Amino acid sequence: MSKILKTVFDEPGKKVRLNDISAQPPKGMTRDEAEKRFVALGKELFDLQDAMFGAKVNSVMVVLQGRDGAGKDGTIKHVVGCLNPRGVSVVSFGVPTTEEREHDFLWRVHRHAPRRGEFSIFNRSHYEDVLVVRVHDLAPKRLWKERFGHIADFEELLAEHGTIVLKYFLHITKVEQEQRLREREQAAETAWKLNPNDWKERDYWDEYTGAYEDAISRTAASHAPWIIVPANAKWYRNLVIAESIVGALRDHKKNWEHRLSEMGKAGKAGLAAYRAQRAAGRNAKKKGR
Ligand code: ATP
Repeated sequence: MSKILKTVFDEPGKKVRLNDISAQPPKGMTRDEAEKRFVALGKELFDLQDAMFGAKVNSVMVVLQGRDGAGKDGTIKHVVGCLNPRGVSVVSFGVPTTEEREHDFLWRVHRHAPRRGEFSIFNRSHYEDVLVVRVHDLAPKRLWKERFGHIADFEELLAEHGTIVLKYFLHITKVEQEQRLREREQAAETAWKLNPNDWKERDYWDEYTGAYEDAISRTAASHAPWIIVPANAKWYRNLVIAESIVGALRDHKKNWEHRLSEMGKAGKAGLAAYRAQRAAGRNAKKKGR
């Protein structure tokens, strides 16, 4: 079995150089193998989700970031498609509304943080406030610079309350992006996604690279790691993300199973007490007759 290669940043301050990280699947990994493994991981993910849902100790926040056409929607379709929709919410963060603008930048995000037992999948996120906002000067530097610290604190807060925070950068090359945007144009079923802004944003490729590198480096933490996903091949991207989520959840499996077993014992004891009480009531009634 080929090794799944991905780059993980889980300590703050470590320098990130995206141009040094491959966006291609590793040699030796075939589409056929990746798809088979993805199916197996999908089943495991479903079972882990079930245990987490019942145990109500942890929750999962998956942040999907990437350039236009990097595959955020495709990831949601494939990876989230493995989950039971009960207990999953997918939230897309676009240009802030007037109401959102009238609050601090985390206001619109925090309210979508997952409840215990559940998943929240973010299609873009609070990171846009240190990415697009920085690249296009939408807020003064002194404001967005402070946001790295606010984001780190926010994610730490969630983690302290049992949220498993996983942040993915879908890493594609500029050539791959162009190909995907052109394909979108040609295929009738994807043409609805066309947006001239995607082409405009390409002109800021290097500025986004710098902004992503800083954001990743400044907010990476063991409780909120960044995973750089080689995403030029969609089948490999799906495998990496599924494997990474399953890996993070597996660490909690024993704890959830223990909790579920305790809950089962408590449930059985409650039922036994109820039956004993009912039987005693019936006996008392008989005697009274
Ligand atoms: P795809 O990547 O599949 O093309 P998308 O994620 O670009 O889809 P859209 O609804 O077309 O989806 O775009 C959302 C837009 O909202 C992006 O251009 C993003 O940069 C912008 N956006 C998100 N958050 C903010 C923010 N806080 N401030 C300004 N713009 C934002």
